[in-house]
Amino acid sequence: MRHMPSVLVVEDESAIAELIAVNLRHNGFRPIWAMDSETAQRDLDAGLPDLILLDWMLPGESGLALAKRWRADPRTQSVPLIMLTARGDEADRVAGLDAGADDYIAKPFSTKELLARIRAVLRRRTPEQAGETLTLGTLVLDPSTHRVSFDDRPLKLGPTEFKLLHYLMGHAERVHSRAQLLDKVWGDHVYIEERTVDVHVKRLREAMALAGTMVETVRGAGYRLTATPVTVAATGIRSEKANHPPL
Ligand code: CA
Repeated sequence: MRHMPSVLVVEDESAIAELIAVNLRHNGFRPIWAMDSETAQRDLDAGLPDLILLDWMLPGESGLALAKRWRADPRTQSVPLIMLTARGDEADRVAGLDAGADDYIAKPFSTKELLARIRAVLRRRTPEQAGETLTLGTLVLDPSTHRVSFDDRPLKLGPTEFKLLHYLMGHAERVHSRAQLLDKVWGDHVYIEERTVDVHVKRLREAMALAGTMVETVRGAGYRLTATPVTVAATGIRSEKANHPPL
């Protein structure tokens, strides 16, 4: 089944929220409406959406304050975020982007433009959902054929390891906590221990053979897929990140 991206719409004006929700639904998205910052936070705690549409002017905590908070939280910092607001002057746009928004749409907006921007942000931020072949160095993953190769040699991965690698390749060079990987690879509302991630990372490294060092453990933070695994630091001292210590 094709993944239906979820969009958390944080907007206090119900008419606008409804208009956005209808358009999202008609275009293959799953809207979740939160009318204030508290509801939005509860929704986020329950599960991460694929994208957040965040109104600037909200009762109580402002959209800008929310954006800053979510960007500072390791669990939510990589969720694509578009700010939505009547404020259109440059200083406000800059403030929104400085707070970590991926894009900014001034009201009134056309729903066509809104959808185009949502798609553009998703393409940029979550390329693993676009169904395109991903490459990192000589590591190649083709979602349409479910094939992975390294140096032109096929790798045999289990279904979970494939999903894990697919996600990591879409977000290479970034560190992902085990909680983030559980959210993104296993899905929300799945109650699995974080240790499960370690088990599958271990299997993934084994299946990747020589390319296994590309999956790095970042002590205390999580995992990262990198095109340039560090095995020997510039000083000649063996780098700790090559040892894949337990978190
Ligand atoms: Ca508002």
